[in-house]
Amino acid sequence: KCQTAYNFATREEMAQLLKPKDKFAHKGIFGHALLAGGSKGKIGAIVLAAKSCLRSGVGLLTVQVPASGNDILQISVPEAMTIPDEGENTITAVQIGEKINAVGIGCGMGTSVEAAQALHQLLQTCDKPMEIDADALNILAQHPEWIKLIPTNSILTPHPAEFDRLAGKSATGYERLEKARDFAAKNKVTVVLKGAYTAVINADGEVSFNSTGNPGMATAGSGDTLTGILVALQAQGYQAFDAARLGVFLHGLAGDIAARTIAFESITASDITASLGFAFNELR
Ligand code: AMP
Ligand code: MG
Repeated sequence: KCQTAYNFATREEMAQLLKPKDKFAHKGIFGHALLAGGSKGKIGAIVLAAKSCLRSGVGLLTVQVPASGNDILQISVPEAMTIPDEGENTITAVQIGEKINAVGIGCGMGTSVEAAQALHQLLQTCDKPMEIDADALNILAQHPEWIKLIPTNSILTPHPAEFDRLAGKSATGYERLEKARDFAAKNKVTVVLKGAYTAVINADGEVSFNSTGNPGMATAGSGDTLTGILVALQAQGYQAFDAARLGVFLHGLAGDIAARTIAFESITASDITASLGFAFNELR
């Protein structure tokens, strides 16, 4: 493999990716995202994803959660519409409306048999771009034969342990990176290998390293906020590799803006979301 496959995402390049918002825009042209996930005790994960999704330019957002999470969602995120699942404490099936442009799945969804069935059914019936994270990745690791069902133009966002579950343990970061390039090429997906200097890898095995972010982002729910950002960009029509590079950059930049006033020790995932609007402004 040639070394030119490795790139470093610059601010200028990311600024060029960011689409302007037209004066005569209406919410119908900015896409309708669906987020599905959550389980009893982990509804917060999908609340975080929903909030960051709404701060990333999406027109409309529907969130599908277990029935017991529905009121929590509606109260915490009044801008989102919800679909209460038939399952009380886990999602059991994902209802994809005709107008949905992109689906984010996995945040807090657990790895129950019901959740696994919901993911399998979604992969069998939906061809919209997906952002697949967290427990959805862990379920795929248990059912590798489902990986081929992932629609084209989708993104997977594993942290190192999640990627190792999918592709086997790696002795070094470099070995993991090379495995991720193979995985992306073989399965025709964009892989976001998260950490410091997150690597965004497209289906051709090209790597774009991210330059933003800080150790304050190594905190509960940080990845869920990224999922919301990415599915919002996908719903707006950004291609997987562009959505992933731009979203990862903005997520890190928001964390860096939070860190100007908040110590690494005290940054929470909600602080990242609260700074997202400043990150978009700094990129313009
Ligand atoms: P997760 O483990 O799913 O919550 O995701 C953590 C998120 O925080 C990812 O987007 C990581 O890239 C980011 N993150 C974690 N640790 C660091 C770090 N030391 N420097 C920059 N970003 C980080
Ligand atoms: Mg995570």
